[in-house]
Amino acid sequence: MKNSGYFSQFGGAFIPEILVPTFDELETAYLTARDDPDFWQEYLDIMSTYSCRATPITRLDNLTEQLGGANIYVKREDLNHTGAHKANNVMGQGLLTKRMGKKRVIAETGAGQHGVATATMAAKFGFDCTIYMGAHDVARQRPNVFWMEQMGATVVAVTEGSQTLKDAINEAFRDWVTNMDDTHYVLGTACGPHPFPEMVSWFQSIIGTEARTQMLERTGKLPKRVYACVGGGSNAMGIFSGFMDDNDVELVGVEAGGRGKGMGEHAARLAYDDATIGVAQGYKTYFLQNTDGQMQDTHSVSAGLDYVGVSPILSHLHESKRVRFEAANDKDVVEAMQRTVRNEGLIPALESSHAFAQAYLEAPTLSSDDDILINMSGRADKDIFTVADAVDDPKWRDFIIDKAEAYRQEMNND
Ligand SMILES: *Cc1c(COP(=O)(O)O)cnc(C)c1O
Repeated sequence: MKNSGYFSQFGGAFIPEILVPTFDELETAYLTARDDPDFWQEYLDIMSTYSCRATPITRLDNLTEQLGGANIYVKREDLNHTGAHKANNVMGQGLLTKRMGKKRVIAETGAGQHGVATATMAAKFGFDCTIYMGAHDVARQRPNVFWMEQMGATVVAVTEGSQTLKDAINEAFRDWVTNMDDTHYVLGTACGPHPFPEMVSWFQSIIGTEARTQMLERTGKLPKRVYACVGGGSNAMGIFSGFMDDNDVELVGVEAGGRGKGMGEHAARLAYDDATIGVAQGYKTYFLQNTDGQMQDTHSVSAGLDYVGVSPILSHLHESKRVRFEAANDKDVVEAMQRTVRNEGLIPALESSHAFAQAYLEAPTLSSDDDILINMSGRADKDIFTVADAVDDPKWRDFIIDKAEAYRQEMNND
């Protein structure tokens, strides 16, 4: 085990001996890229020509007036290619993969968003691509699986264990052990063994760097608070890192409060007291686990926040009190999303809507001299099935039934 990659007691790299040279190679490539201004320039070039960077900041004029408190601004990561901040991470790791001379990428995915993002990057750079996904998730997330396969990726449905994200991660590591010479594992968030938490946060820091400059240009001062939703923690680390040294800017991480308190009902590792410190999946952090270290079930309306662990860097920032953690429950999240759609015409992903829900709660308690900034990590096109169910839209149900009926008749005619 290495000593680097610790954030107070959290982080580290708890990896099998056989992977140590691969992690060393990756760490060296990452540190070399960090010291090389040409690398970051190449990264900025590809992000501006392939993924709409710099993303703008939008002021929520109508909701600022309605809520009557702080001026509400939104950082528009939804405008990235594939609709979320995930593009920042996969394109960065893609450039590193090229530098390491590797020709194949693998990734884990839960809801499929990281799988789609990785598959686009692999298509663009000409890499072979295999995506590991729990069999349950493959069945639930057909639209994402469809696009991954269209882009030429092989999607492996993992039938081990609970057939969800954590089993997909285990399978991806198994693949990497066998194929590390030509393969890079594109881990999807600021978790996992060192150097992933730090490296993914570095790529995502493009959000915070842009946002800080944009807020200063736009308002002449820094925001009072910055809100981000927290799954693994990559979009939060991305926007927070722009303001980390500005001690007057309060950073607020919003986790999935699900159906409410009680183990199994939520995925709040830091805002609630259910999680404990442990080592799993190669790193040390707070996990939702029982006293035997067995990972517990989690629940959230948003698949992207539904995870047992959290970035070790955020666990550290929680304990050092630099970041305040809150949890928003499913009902408030769907309401915050609908409110944003109706009043501003923006369509925040269910994940991002957690940050909106908390910001809307706090905005009225602040003054009109205060600005707050919400990271809109992604857009909700992918959430149409979940949201249409949640709002119980009868026309949507009819549409699905008609579609299924048409398929059935076609099959009968064949
Ligand atoms: C994947 C995803 C998240 C959660 O991941 P983090 O690493 O916590 O950022 C949040 N929002 C959107 C839109 C996502 O797709």
